[in-house]
Amino acid sequence: MSKLPVAPEPLSSPVFDSHCHLDIMVGNRQASSGDPVAQAAQAASATVRSILDDARAVGVTRLVTIGYDLPSSRWNADVAAQQEGVYAGVAIHPNEAHASTPEVLAEIEALAGRPEVRAVGETGLDYYRDWASKDDQHASFRAHVEIAKRTGKALVIHDREAHDDVLRVLAEEGAPEKVVFHSYSGDAEMAKKCVEAGYFMSFSGPVTYKNAGYLREAAEVAPPELMLVETDAPYLPPVPHRGKPNAPYLIPLTLRCLAEVKGVHPDRLCEAISANGVTVFGEW
Ligand SMILES: [Zn+2]
Repeated sequence: MSKLPVAPEPLSSPVFDSHCHLDIMVGNRQASSGDPVAQAAQAASATVRSILDDARAVGVTRLVTIGYDLPSSRWNADVAAQQEGVYAGVAIHPNEAHASTPEVLAEIEALAGRPEVRAVGETGLDYYRDWASKDDQHASFRAHVEIAKRTGKALVIHDREAHDDVLRVLAEEGAPEKVVFHSYSGDAEMAKKCVEAGYFMSFSGPVTYKNAGYLREAAEVAPPELMLVETDAPYLPPVPHRGKPNAPYLIPLTLRCLAEVKGVHPDRLCEAISANGVTVFGEW
């Protein structure tokens, strides 16, 4: 597919993608007409196999595929059960929070108990979109915090324009042992709060964007022991592929940007992130 980004130079030390959506990439879920990136990803007709092969060819040897509603969570958990090097997250996304009924949450908790499911997410708060009311979002987020604590799985947080409330809810509920801010979008000040609380910050494509200096400042603050890297594929491709579908094989571009910001060799950052992966998601 000529429209797809070319593969970057392979990493010399392996790393993993802490957050992507295999089901959207392979077209298991129909992309909405208002979602050109997901449509383009699906037009590329990738398969789980080809996505994993492309990723491994550049040193991205493992990934976490993340659910956003009940069918998506089930699908991702099943794929993780079948595929070596794949773990899943299960949750109801804040944009779907109105769907978080007690019955649905009970099913999410049952899925979260499966061995190949290593995260409760993505959950959190999204004040950019008003698809679900704030009340529904808060109730759903708090319920997911409790599920993460009961199951001992990592809490993977979607925080869009809701930094203060996300931090407040975590403090009020008592944060689970392992907390990840997915596609970290805060500034350096917030990064300091995350460091203090021991929350992991997972950096995605936007850290490479010219106008996102605040994200690079946050990455400077974040110690390697609390950093993760992700694609959020098929969304948020790194420079120079903005507007095209993202995939785990583009992780090296974001990783190298982070290494440059940190002033460390990419291999060292890959090693730190891989170790963090074991801390957060367990042995692979
Ligand atoms: Zn996501």
